[in-house]
Parts: sequence; structure tokens; C-alpha cells
Amino acid sequence: MSFSLTWLPAVLESAGLKVAPVPGWESRGRAEMGRVLGVMCHHTAGPRQGNMPSLRTLIEGRRDLPGPLSQLGLGRDGTYYIVAAGRCNHAGAGSWQGLTGGNTNFIGIEAENTGLPDNRPWPEVQLDAYRRGVAAILRHAGRTALFCAGHKEYALPSGRKNDPDFDMDAFRRAVAAIIDDTAPPPSLIPKAEPQPSAGQPAARATLRRGSVDELVKVVQKKCGLPDDGVFGANTEAAVRRFQNSRGMVPDGIVGPKTWAALDTA
Ligand SMILES: [Zn+2]
Repeated sequence: MSFSLTWLPAVLESAGLKVAPVPGWESRGRAEMGRVLGVMCHHTAGPRQGNMPSLRTLIEGRRDLPGPLSQLGLGRDGTYYIVAAGRCNHAGAGSWQGLTGGNTNFIGIEAENTGLPDNRPWPEVQLDAYRRGVAAILRHAGRTALFCAGHKEYALPSGRKNDPDFDMDAFRRAVAAIIDDTAPPPSLIPKAEPQPSAGQPAARATLRRGSVDELVKVVQKKCGLPDDGVFGANTEAAVRRFQNSRGMVPDGIVGPKTWAALDTA
């Protein structure tokens, strides 16, 4: 069975963000969520190397706290890993704007960062995705930027948590500006390769779900699929499998890096 937050990938994708569902995410959770009234920002305090080295911990939990530990993980490259569609153990005791149901009413985002000087400043691509993901979720839930809480602001007793290690007031102002703005979001990955790859006459377009193009057939052939030129769910799943097999971020989008990897497949 699925929990209720199955709208998360579509809402993030429609904000132009990269999404990597973690298998089993729809039915992962401590229990069903309550009504979504806000978003809570965290940092993982995880390892310095890698894009999302804390992902396994987010799924399985720690010795002192069973997982899942958040609905979303945010990698250093701005990819949202969809961990769970149900309630997660991310908030603990606390209060924000009179709301005390942290795990019940707040979606948790754990962004990969050590929380130490060795990880400052945060990568802009990650911070940009953080702001736009929070804005997309709050807009979907009909909430304002005020209901984006830092764990350090919510947690009681005061001082129990120090994450995330950036200025939450400035973060909320930026989120509010995105919520108010109706302009289409910029894309995190280029629309095409920066220049033609070796052996290619022209730079190849970035392909994703919904693309209809002769180039889609190239991807489908490489993945052993019927080549109808329509980038649908099966093609996306095959691209994610291919990316996983190459140790890449499985976002299901064929951009410059995935094109280069497909060339060697
Ligand atoms: Zn936290």
C-alpha cells in the first residue's frame, strides 16, 4: 500500500528539479502523515565525500532512531532522492509558529552537508534546489514561506539541534520570492550538450520523460527497448537502471553526462 505523499516527485519535477525515487518509497514510512502544514530543513551531518552518502541512513535509520529519517534527501548536485511517502522520524520535540506536530505535519528534507566548515559555502546548485523544492512543496500545500522551519528553530529544548547551518530568515525570503514568482523555473541541467561529443555531428538535446525525438530511439536501442522514439515511463526506468549500473545519479534524464556514458555502452 502507498502512503499519501505520492505527489512529491511530480511536484518537484514540475518545478524543474531532478528527482531520483528510491525503490519502495511509496510504501515507506513510520505511519500515514497528517495534513501537511510545513517543511522542515535539515542537514545530514554526514560524510564529506559523495553526492548523497547518507541515503542508506535516511532509509534505515540509526541505532537510536528507526528510519525512515526524512521523506526527502537532497544531494550535493541538487537531486531530490524520494525516500518515503509516509511519516518519518526527523523532527523530535519542538514548536514552530504554534505547530508542535513536527513528524505529523512537516515534510522533512535532509540535505547532504557535514555541517562543518569543510562544507561551506554550500554548493549553489544544491542551495538553489533546496529553495525551489521547499517553495514547490509549500505552494502545493497552500502554505506560505513562514511555514518553512529550520530544525534548529523548531527543536526543543532550545539548542538541541543546530541544523541547517545557514540563515533561515534569508532562506525564507528567497523561498517567498520563488513562491510569488510566476516565471518558469530555470533547468538545473543544460538543454543540450555544450558541444558535440566525439563522433557526433551536433550537440545532442537533453531528453527526459515526455520527449519525442529521433534521438530517443538511440537511447532506447542502447537500453534494449523497442525504439518508438517516445520517452515514456519504460524508457525512464531503463535510463535510471543504466545510470545506477554506472554509479551515476539515477535521475532518469539523459543530459550531457548520461549521453557520454551511453556512448560507451
Ligand atoms: Zn535535523
